[in-house]
Amino acid sequence: MPKFAEIAIALPIDRIFHYSVPEKYDGYIAVGKRVFVPFQNRTIVGYVVGLSDAADVKETKAIISIIDAEPILSGELLKLTKWVKDNYFCSWGEAIGAAIPSGIKKGKAEIGRRISAKEQKDPCADKADSARSVPHILTEEQGQALKTIAECIDSKVHKTFLLHGITASGKTEVYLQAIDRVLARSAQAIMLVPEIALTPQTIERFVSRFGEQVAVVHSKLTPAKRFLEWKRIKDGRARIVVGARSAVFSPMDNLGLVIIDEEHETTYKQDDVPRYHAREVAEERSRLNNCPLILGTATPSLESYHKAKNGVYKLIKITKRIEERLLPKVKIVDMRMELAARRKVAIFSKVLLDAIDKALKNGKQVIIFLNRRGFSTFLNCKRCGLVLKCKRCDTVLVYHFEEKNLLCHYCGYHIPPPDICPKCRSGYIRYFGLGTERVESEISRNFSHARIARMDSDTTSKRGSHDRILGEFKSGNVKVLVGTQMIAKGLDFPQVTLVGVVSADVTLNIPDFRASERTFNLLTQVAGRAGRGEDGGEVIVQTYAPGHYAILAAAKHDYEKFYAEEIVARKELSFPPFVNLIKVTVRARADEIALKAATNLAEAIRAEDRSAMVGGPAPAPIARMRGYFRHNIMLKGTDKAAMCALLKKTLGSFRKPHGVLVAVDVDPVSM
Ligand code: ADP
Ligand code: ZN
Ligand code: ZN
Repeated sequence: MPKFAEIAIALPIDRIFHYSVPEKYDGYIAVGKRVFVPFQNRTIVGYVVGLSDAADVKETKAIISIIDAEPILSGELLKLTKWVKDNYFCSWGEAIGAAIPSGIKKGKAEIGRRISAKEQKDPCADKADSARSVPHILTEEQGQALKTIAECIDSKVHKTFLLHGITASGKTEVYLQAIDRVLARSAQAIMLVPEIALTPQTIERFVSRFGEQVAVVHSKLTPAKRFLEWKRIKDGRARIVVGARSAVFSPMDNLGLVIIDEEHETTYKQDDVPRYHAREVAEERSRLNNCPLILGTATPSLESYHKAKNGVYKLIKITKRIEERLLPKVKIVDMRMELAARRKVAIFSKVLLDAIDKALKNGKQVIIFLNRRGFSTFLNCKRCGLVLKCKRCDTVLVYHFEEKNLLCHYCGYHIPPPDICPKCRSGYIRYFGLGTERVESEISRNFSHARIARMDSDTTSKRGSHDRILGEFKSGNVKVLVGTQMIAKGLDFPQVTLVGVVSADVTLNIPDFRASERTFNLLTQVAGRAGRGEDGGEVIVQTYAPGHYAILAAAKHDYEKFYAEEIVARKELSFPPFVNLIKVTVRARADEIALKAATNLAEAIRAEDRSAMVGGPAPAPIARMRGYFRHNIMLKGTDKAAMCALLKKTLGSFRKPHGVLVAVDVDPVSM
């Protein structure tokens, strides 16, 4: 019997701890089980990741108890979480913590039994088999795509497919039929979506096709529900998992396919420890399982398309929409001309107003998109120039009309809007910039007879509000839907003939090398909401930068053209996909302390390796957040492993001053 257990714990300490195994646990201790162990005068949960006859220290403490009768982590998930640890600067225990439901992480053992007695119904059980949707007969392009993927499913080889199909080209139908194939082989499938709440129609299609075999997992589930679903997957009762990024760790033991829908979305990156990218984890997992990975999108990330062009991924294209419906015509409106002609800043151009009017008169529906919530984006004193900012973050406060407050979108700090300037006491406070709330009120002023709904994170914070708003739009009661990027993807409403983009410049102006890519993606996605029915559609894009290639290419639905321009810029400036980035953020309550520590750390990295490309430190784009001053160091290079090793070595001997925090983000998706 092994004398020692190798234990991973969910603390930011990158090592394994040896504990002795009391004799009474002979035969019970096993890799993959949770145990309680003493750690610095506390009792904490540990994960058994190995067993051995020797310990790495002279004196070991003993395991207190074993929590699980059966291992909760398979050998495969242990390998996968170790890979996460090796690639994303976290401990093995932290990586495991991200892979299991929170209740299990906390060491609960009996939770499952208690709940299943109380609520035995499976969440999807009310979908009777008879209500299931039947597969479509595939178009030629869909058929080809499925055939190529199915070969890999059947022969159990790993390959990554980039399924590049324009909006409404039938990608989802290909996923569904590929899953059919997986089920026929008694295997299981995982499908990741960017955000469950934003993709209700996709979820509905999965549930209506596969019924109770589907488990839907996401962060809004109560811990108890989440556990139930986890258990259903582990026991093999749910063979298909649809979920947000953490679903990539679902406890299946015979995985036959992984799908990532809208692979370009940044929500696949976790912005807290462990800062993993679900696309990369999915690739590793499908490699471990010898199964294919499908990356589906209308607008591939530059990284993925570059890999496809270089033969690392296999590119599959779907070029036609279902029933050969035409892509909507996109009209670009130059708001500089509008400004010159009308001599004032208008929210809507005449072109857009006329188009809304026409669509409504024809009984059609309209989507109006602006990727910014709130009413006015900032308050400004006309006399002293003061802009009202959050006292904890270096961000402007956004005016919310309904709530009658000024709100920080980063930390939630809010104050009532002042009548007089807090600095010079003048009464010349003015409101500038606009958000969805203002757009909504302008539309109702112009079209008082039309019912309008707004969908953004202000109107959807209550449970069920998403479904309610979309339901009203679907029923046709609501004629105009105003919203942020929440309405950009996935929605399929055939009565929508017009999509208006109030300002394409919102994302174009963010200080990030991916600004053009984001803009192209969003415009393409939102344009794809128009003309899904028989009546065709039109998209009107307002912008002050009508000549920008991201906007021009989006207007022509031309991904290739966008890629061709963007990839040149990336190469010239040495950005991904030509290099890997690692972002190191140093923060402290006092700016001098943060800056000094960041400077020292950057020096130390350079001293360790003179040839490394190290940028900064430079203030983060939002230099202060939640009371912390933040400075970024950016490592660039083509050998990620070497970069990680360099940083690990430097951080290992770096003496972090008191009150300084360091966060490492490998392959960051925002600056
Ligand atoms: P995408 O995922 O590329 O946006 P979808 O799979 O949602 O496209 O397909 C768009 C619409 O066309 C959906 O309403 C879907 O049910 C329908 N559809 C998909 N494939 C077919 C097909 N082969 N024949 C008829 N309708 C189809
Ligand atoms: Zn003032
Ligand atoms: Zn704030």
